[in-house]
Amino acid sequence: MKRVAVLGATGSIGGNTLDVIARHPDRFCATVLTAHHHVEALAALCVTHRPQLAIIADPALESELARRLSAAGVHCDIASGHAAITIAAASALCDVVVAAIVGAAGLDSTLAAARAGKRLLLANKEAIVMAGPLLLDAVRVGGGALIPVDSEHNAIFQCLPPAQSTPGQSPANHGQPGVRRLILTASGGPFRGWTREQLASVKPDQACKHPNWVMGRKISVDSATLMNKGLEVIEAHHLFAMPAAAIDVVVHPQSLVHSFVEYIDGSVLAQLGHPDMRTAIACALAWPERVASGVAPLDLTACAPLAFEAPDRATFRCLDLAGAALRAGGDSPAILNAANEIAVEAFLAGALPFLAIADVVEAVLAELPGQAVVDVPTLCERDAMARDAARRVLRRAC
Ligand code: NAD
Ligand code: MG
Repeated sequence: MKRVAVLGATGSIGGNTLDVIARHPDRFCATVLTAHHHVEALAALCVTHRPQLAIIADPALESELARRLSAAGVHCDIASGHAAITIAAASALCDVVVAAIVGAAGLDSTLAAARAGKRLLLANKEAIVMAGPLLLDAVRVGGGALIPVDSEHNAIFQCLPPAQSTPGQSPANHGQPGVRRLILTASGGPFRGWTREQLASVKPDQACKHPNWVMGRKISVDSATLMNKGLEVIEAHHLFAMPAAAIDVVVHPQSLVHSFVEYIDGSVLAQLGHPDMRTAIACALAWPERVASGVAPLDLTACAPLAFEAPDRATFRCLDLAGAALRAGGDSPAILNAANEIAVEAFLAGALPFLAIADVVEAVLAELPGQAVVDVPTLCERDAMARDAARRVLRRAC
């Protein structure tokens, strides 16, 4: 029986993870569930999944959680605060940690799980974008494994030779002999084909209406700007030890091919499936075995023709900004990520135009040239500096 901590249980990835877990009560149980401040949803999940520990990040809501659980007859342990989440991620309560908190807020718990040698199912891409080398070191030192959940990286993980899945090591952080290129697919988001004039006045709800995937609001906006694909290029660079120049992006509007690995002999391997995160989650939970995920079989004769096109880098500038941050090296990706989190928050609040997200990120990258990544506290200081810089840019812009 694998005991699973689901960090970010009330989110889109969290819900999909719990769906897969509930299909296999003989194999998996959710022992830890966490949420930010959605106390009602967390309490409802506890009623269904009966964890040993429920954590609400906002301490002001702990008594409310206790009241709701007691009224529902659920007698699990209750805790609150970010430190409690980090402690639980490294605790004996779990063998597997699903890192599904959104943004830099997930960094500490992701690192803690890695250091403690857990099987780390990484959805929280911002953590590896910020702290790639530190996270991979933590996985090595901890002796556990990192399995990518992000659909593109999970696809690449599946298309690489199983021989590179060294037991007790991260299966996904070795160099890749024989591989020429990784090709990440991108849906193109809700605004594929739009001009800058059309994009000038788009609203948050339009940006969050992804054509193929149902996701949280932050990653939905990132998909609309193509920053999501930029973050994923950085993520792929760290996970698979491939240089930036060997990672390409192709727009594939049907989201049925989740990515490709191109080998030096001309072979190109792909992983296909419906755009449903339960496939990647089930793969990562059970690896190297396979379990049912609830995802329907893919009827190839019923699929729309599969199309591929180059991304529009001039309109969706975030993709190249992320590439520039990766090439600049050091903590530039962390600076990019922090500025993007602030800009997206402002856009979602109606305080920043869609196209200005890229402008804020560009201005902050120019203000804070990359420095070597030394340790987590320094990285967090730089993250805070980038957020302050982004807020200053926002004040000037509005
Ligand atoms: P979401 O917004 O639906 O859920 C986020 C979860 O994190 C919620 O449970 C929320 O309570 C929790 N959370 C948010 N802020 C927090 C904080 N400050 N402290 C503690 N908990 C906090 O997001 P999502 O779409 O599930 O995405 C989660 C992560 O997975 C993101 O990093 C995203 O990029 C990545 N991801 C998501 C998808 C997807 O299909 N949704 C696909 C690939 C990768
Ligand atoms: Mg993805």
